[in-house]
Amino acid sequence: MTQSKRKIVIVGGGITGLAAAYRAQEKINTEQLDAEITIVEANHRLGGKIQTVVQDGFVIERGPDSFLERKKSMGRLITDVGMADKLVPNATGQAFILVNDKLHPMPGGAIMGIPTQIRPFMLTDLISLTGKLRAAGDFVLPKSNRQDDQSLGTFFRRRLGNEVVENLIEPLLSGIYAGDIDQISLQSTFPQYGKLEQEHRSLIAGMKKTSPAANRKPGEKKKSMFLTLSTGLESLVETLETRLSDCDILKGTRVESISRGDRYQLSLNSGAVIEADSVIFTVPHFTAGSVFSDSGLLEQIEHIPATSVATVAMAFDQEEVENILDGTGFVVSRNSDYTITACTWTDRKWPHTTPEGKVLLRCYVGRAGDETVVDLSDDQIEKIVLDDLNKIIKVKSKPDFTIVTRWKKAMPQYTVGHRERMAAVRTELEKNYPGVYLAGASYDGIGLPDCIDQGEAAAYKALNYITQ
Ligand code: FAD
Repeated sequence: MTQSKRKIVIVGGGITGLAAAYRAQEKINTEQLDAEITIVEANHRLGGKIQTVVQDGFVIERGPDSFLERKKSMGRLITDVGMADKLVPNATGQAFILVNDKLHPMPGGAIMGIPTQIRPFMLTDLISLTGKLRAAGDFVLPKSNRQDDQSLGTFFRRRLGNEVVENLIEPLLSGIYAGDIDQISLQSTFPQYGKLEQEHRSLIAGMKKTSPAANRKPGEKKKSMFLTLSTGLESLVETLETRLSDCDILKGTRVESISRGDRYQLSLNSGAVIEADSVIFTVPHFTAGSVFSDSGLLEQIEHIPATSVATVAMAFDQEEVENILDGTGFVVSRNSDYTITACTWTDRKWPHTTPEGKVLLRCYVGRAGDETVVDLSDDQIEKIVLDDLNKIIKVKSKPDFTIVTRWKKAMPQYTVGHRERMAAVRTELEKNYPGVYLAGASYDGIGLPDCIDQGEAAAYKALNYITQ
C-alpha cells in the first residue's frame, strides 16, 4: 500500500495564509518533498482584508492601501510572483494633524510623532511652550529600570510629556492600531523605542544617532516610505491564486473545530472532515479560539481586544472640493471633536488611483472606545464624514460615489503583556497540538509585511515538522 502524502492545511486565505502556501509550495517543489497543501477559506474569495475596487478609472482600497517599504517581505513576494513592475511609491508631501479645528503641519523631523529636530519642533504651534520644555526633559531624564512590558502611553508620557503624546504621537499610532495608546504594549509594537532608551538614555538622541530620517537637512526632499501596486493590492491576491497551482483551495468553507488522533481532523461547516499532519491557523484570534474551544486551549487569546473601524472612500469632481492644503492628508487628535480619525488625500498621495480632474478622499472612522459609528448606515456614515470634512475643507456637493467598508473587530489590540501571553499559548499549543501553528495579524504584527513574515515562518516550521 502506498503511504499518502503528508499534508499541511492552511486555515484562512488572507495574505498570511497565501504567503504561507506560496512559500510551502515553492519549497515542496524545489526540494521535491512528498507533501501537499490545502487552503481552507471561509469566504468565496481569497485575500481577507485585502480588497480593491476598480471603478470608473479609480483604484480604491477598501482595507490596506500600501505597505512599509523597509519591511522587505512584501516587496520580495511581489517580485517573486513577477509583479515588481507594478510597484509604486507614495508621493511625498506634508502630512497634517488636526487639533482644535485646525490642520497643523507635522513638524519636520517628527518620526512617528517623536520630535527629532529642534528647530521645526520649537516653531510648531501644535505644542505649547510648556509642552516643548517638557519634551526637552527627554535629554536629561534617566532611563527607566523597567524590565517588564509597559504601555506606549506610559513610555512616551514619561519621556516626552503628555502634550507631545496627545497632539503628535497618539494620533499617528491610533492611525495604525485604532487603539488606546495607554493600553497598547510597547514590547509588541515598537520595542525599538524601549531599546533606544536603554542604549542612549534619551529617546531623541537615540533617534538622531540611528535614524537617517532624523538627520534630513532642512529642505531635503522626504523619501517615500510606502509602496503599493498600481493595479491594486488585490491583484497580488489574484496572482498568488494563479501561482498556487499545486495547492488545493477550498473556498466558501469554514473550519469549525479540530481534534487530534493519528492525524489532525478538521471539521468543516459542510459536515465533512479533512485530515492533516500539520495545520497553520491564519484566521483572526477569536476564530482560532472558537476552533479550539473544546480543548479550552486558546482561551487566553480568544479575549484579545479587537477594534472595529470603517473606511469611507469618496470621489468628487475637482471643482467640488476647495481649500485642500498642499499635502497628503491628516490624522485627528483624540481631544478634537471629530468622528473621523484620519483622512488621506488619496489622489495626491497615490496619483495612479484617480483619473484626471477628480479627487479621491479616504477617511477612517472608529477607534478603541469610539466604535459605535461603524454600525450606522452607509448614508449616516457618509453624512458624518462630510460634516467633519466641511469643518476643515470645503466640499460643495455630495460625492460622485462613496464606498463604505466596515471592518468589525479587524484591528487586534496588542495590550501590555501580549508577547508573554502569546509565548505561553504557543508553548501550550506545541505540547498539546504539535505541528499546529498560529500566524497572522492577531499575533506578531499587524502590517502586511509582518503577516507575510509570520506566514512564511509558519510554512517552514510546518514543512520541517512533517518531514522530520
Ligand atoms: P485576514 O486578512 O483577516 O485573513 C484571514 C482569513 O481567514 C479571511 O480571509 C477569513 O475569511 C478567513 N477565515 C476566518 N474564519 C475562518 C474559518 N473558520 N475557516 C476558514 N477561513 C476562515 N496593513 C498594512 O501593512 N498597510 C495598510 O495600509 C493597512 N491598512 C489597513 C486598513 C484596514 C481598514 C484594516 C482592517 C487593516 C489594515 N492593515 C494594513 C492591516 C492588514 O491589512 C491586516 O493585518 C492583514 O491584511 C491581515 O491578514 P491576515 O491574513 O492575517 O488576516
